[in-house]
Amino acid sequence: MSDTDFDAIVVGSGCAGAVAAYVLARAGKSVLVVERGNFAGAKNMTGGRIYSHALKEVFPNFEEEAPLERRITHERMVLMDARAATTIDFTSDELAAEGRDSYSVLRAPFDQWLASKAEEAGAEYICGIAVEELIKDGSGKVVGVRAGEDEITAQAVVLAEGANPLLAEKCLGNPRPKPSQMAVGIKQVFELAPSQIEDRFLCPEGQGAAMLFVGDCTHGNVGGGFLYTNKESISLGLVATIETAARGSNPHSICRMLEDFKRHPAVAPIIRGAKLAEHSGHMVPEGGFDMVPEYVFDGCVIAGETAGLCMNMGYQVRGMDFAVASGRMAAEAVIEAIDRGDTGKEGLASYRTRMEGSFVIGDLKTFRRWPHTMEGWDSLFKDYPSLAKELMNELFVVNGAPQAPLMKRMMPVLKKRGLIKLALEMRGACKAL
Ligand SMILES: Cc1cc2nc3c(=O)[nH]c(=O)nc-3n(C[C@H](O)[C@H](O)[C@H](O)COP(=O)(O)OP(=O)(O)OC[C@H]3O[C@@H](n4cnc5c(N)ncnc54)[C@H](O)[C@@H]3O)c2cc1C
Repeated sequence: MSDTDFDAIVVGSGCAGAVAAYVLARAGKSVLVVERGNFAGAKNMTGGRIYSHALKEVFPNFEEEAPLERRITHERMVLMDARAATTIDFTSDELAAEGRDSYSVLRAPFDQWLASKAEEAGAEYICGIAVEELIKDGSGKVVGVRAGEDEITAQAVVLAEGANPLLAEKCLGNPRPKPSQMAVGIKQVFELAPSQIEDRFLCPEGQGAAMLFVGDCTHGNVGGGFLYTNKESISLGLVATIETAARGSNPHSICRMLEDFKRHPAVAPIIRGAKLAEHSGHMVPEGGFDMVPEYVFDGCVIAGETAGLCMNMGYQVRGMDFAVASGRMAAEAVIEAIDRGDTGKEGLASYRTRMEGSFVIGDLKTFRRWPHTMEGWDSLFKDYPSLAKELMNELFVVNGAPQAPLMKRMMPVLKKRGLIKLALEMRGACKAL
């Protein structure tokens, strides 16, 4: 019998924290969640689309209960130069198949639903107060948290404070992420009637589209644009590295970039007549596996973005499925440790084994070179969109003059960029992917 206030304390009620709290409470453990927002989701932001596989493992009937926006069945990738856009447009039955499907979500309702599941299972919530410190005993083991005037103890703490890992740095000694490993995201939500969304994206009723943009949306800087269709709105935004956003010589602030992005001929018609309803900004880790810090400590485990668990592949953005899965695994490890009577570093080590045996660490490791490749691949953001435009012009523009064979028209466009340089860049990208 432990003399702590709770079996476990969870810091933060985002995707990782709320799922950890739910799994712990479902197993009969007493859990306190401390969330600094006035309610779960009040401070949270995503693009966003969640790949459902991780959610399904915790909530097998989530489709019936969760406040999902649209099932995403249309994927578009856009190479964008200042006035042109070259788009890959893909749809398939597989995108909608159970366990492979993905959904657009808005975090305020989605996080409140996750928190309500944790509360229904028995977790207690304190909202509107931030944890200021993890408290430790004489041996350095984490034994609770300090929030305002209160010191609350537990056998184990799950730290899920999100992208800005202040407590992990201050109390556990984890390194501060480097500016090159972090990006800043900005997003606006535009209200639009469901039928207009379906018409504009050629989607069946209730289904939706995801679009990712590269090139002029960030004025040629590393980063990209995103667009997700919700039930009655469109989420539109940009992600740029902190280095770009903070660079003195960068004449375009990220807010300026977003205004220009909205005026681009490939975007303006999509949001025509839509009403701006929301504006938000948030950091996002983009360093991949190389920024994953220590995540098992004496009395404490770290889940979600606090552990750097996020991947921006350019064609996929994943963080929420990582957060959900890591929250579940953190909770399972804590339950096992409490039952064995050892919540020290050794006792909690099964969290590492679980993570390493899962897609979370697996995928981050597989694609560990991608963030560095993308960062050093200037031409992807600056040249490729114009290259694609010039090639497409050769393909589609007809002016009545006799036409040379297609290859003869296209080769000069490719040669201008250097065929060997292009081939080497493609090879580098293929190796990182
Ligand atoms: C612009 C943008 C676009 C994105 N697009 C996608 C996408 O399309 N798909 C996808 O899967 N992922 C996407 N992501 C990433 C995804 O949103 C995150 O990976 C995910 O939200 C991480 O969940 P989390 O639980 O780790 O952190 P969060 O959801 O950020 O939750 C952390 C919680 O901790 C609370 N907190 C922080 N400090 C304290 C404290 N001291 N005391 C108490 N509470 C505290 C916060 O208020 C918050 O509720 C995107 C991110 C951004 C910024």
